[in-house]
Amino acid sequence: MTPSTDPASGAAAEPRRVAITNVRVFDGERLSEPTTVVIEGGLIVSNADGAEEVDGANGVLLPGLIDAHVHLGKEGQLRQMRDWGVTTALGMGEWSVETLKMLRGRENQGLTDIRSSGLPATVPGSFHSKMLPFPTRGLVAGAADATRFVTNRLAEGADYIKVIADVPGPDQATLDALVSAAHERGKLVVAHAATFTPFVMALEAKADVITHVPRDKALDDEAVARMVADKRSSVPTLHMMGLITKPLSLGTILRLLFRPSLLLTIVSGFRSFSGTQTYENAKESVARMHRAGVPILAGTDANEEQDSPFQVRHGEAMHREMELLVEAGLSTVDVLRAATALPAKHFALSDRGVVEPGKRADLLLLRDDPIKDIRATRSIQRVWCGGIEHVRTYV
Ligand SMILES: [Zn+2]
Repeated sequence: MTPSTDPASGAAAEPRRVAITNVRVFDGERLSEPTTVVIEGGLIVSNADGAEEVDGANGVLLPGLIDAHVHLGKEGQLRQMRDWGVTTALGMGEWSVETLKMLRGRENQGLTDIRSSGLPATVPGSFHSKMLPFPTRGLVAGAADATRFVTNRLAEGADYIKVIADVPGPDQATLDALVSAAHERGKLVVAHAATFTPFVMALEAKADVITHVPRDKALDDEAVARMVADKRSSVPTLHMMGLITKPLSLGTILRLLFRPSLLLTIVSGFRSFSGTQTYENAKESVARMHRAGVPILAGTDANEEQDSPFQVRHGEAMHREMELLVEAGLSTVDVLRAATALPAKHFALSDRGVVEPGKRADLLLLRDDPIKDIRATRSIQRVWCGGIEHVRTYV
């Protein structure tokens, strides 16, 4: 859909009012009886007078999906996510300030709306500092350097701060200092923690959201109880945890042969966990957190980094992540919330995540019912991203 113009004057006409009729709306718990949802000027509104009709054909209307862990680098990724119903994406490690500027604020083009941490914090000698061509401005010298790091990220436009908890990685004092420097500036902190000890360090440092789950050992009762008591939320990225715990594919090894030092780093990283890292540990951690009431948010770790051994496609991966969360014990309703209302709540995106008048018109029209079978989130008929419609039918 393009904005309509008055052919006589060429001036932009009043924004169109569109009534999506005959849809069953997901309200966070169940589907409504068939009803009508009206959108206008990028928002959901209540007045249907004079609206153009779009027949929802008794389909299911969801709030647009929010992917709570992506890596952003190209405009095509925004289009791809939008096509798959991901209308908001939370960047968890973007190297280039210029690229981010180019990708932000594209909603007037009907593209996925993004937020970003900018560069994540790590220390020299850590796995991440060696694995990727990590810019030195992301390296933190120690606790005394934390305020500089946070100030610089915020000056670059970061919406929240990301820290990489790992061993080897920042020590506890450095993690603590990074989190408190961010909190002093009123910013949320997301901690990467993909093994058990760093996960506990992230909890100790009071990070608000912990992304990934331990693959060397499932979270124990104490760690889970602390997540609950401290009101933390989790973005497990199960799809990525599955990739990391599998042997590297031949194609990946061939690709990495052009970067021998990177291949060595990855192989030595694998060795240090040999025999103990499993997908089952990651899945069990999610199951335990969910049973205890920890909010679980859907995130894919989608990335197309040339040097990443584990590339994940933007958009489609969100549907795979939702399937894996169901396998880990979340109900389909829990998973739909994990991909809509919960990330909106925990990242303070109060203008989206639910289908209600006044909220952004980020909507996903499905042919089939995802409460019956989560795979139905793939039966996308139409997507509205900031009120701009895209039609795409998946068979
Ligand atoms: Zn990531």
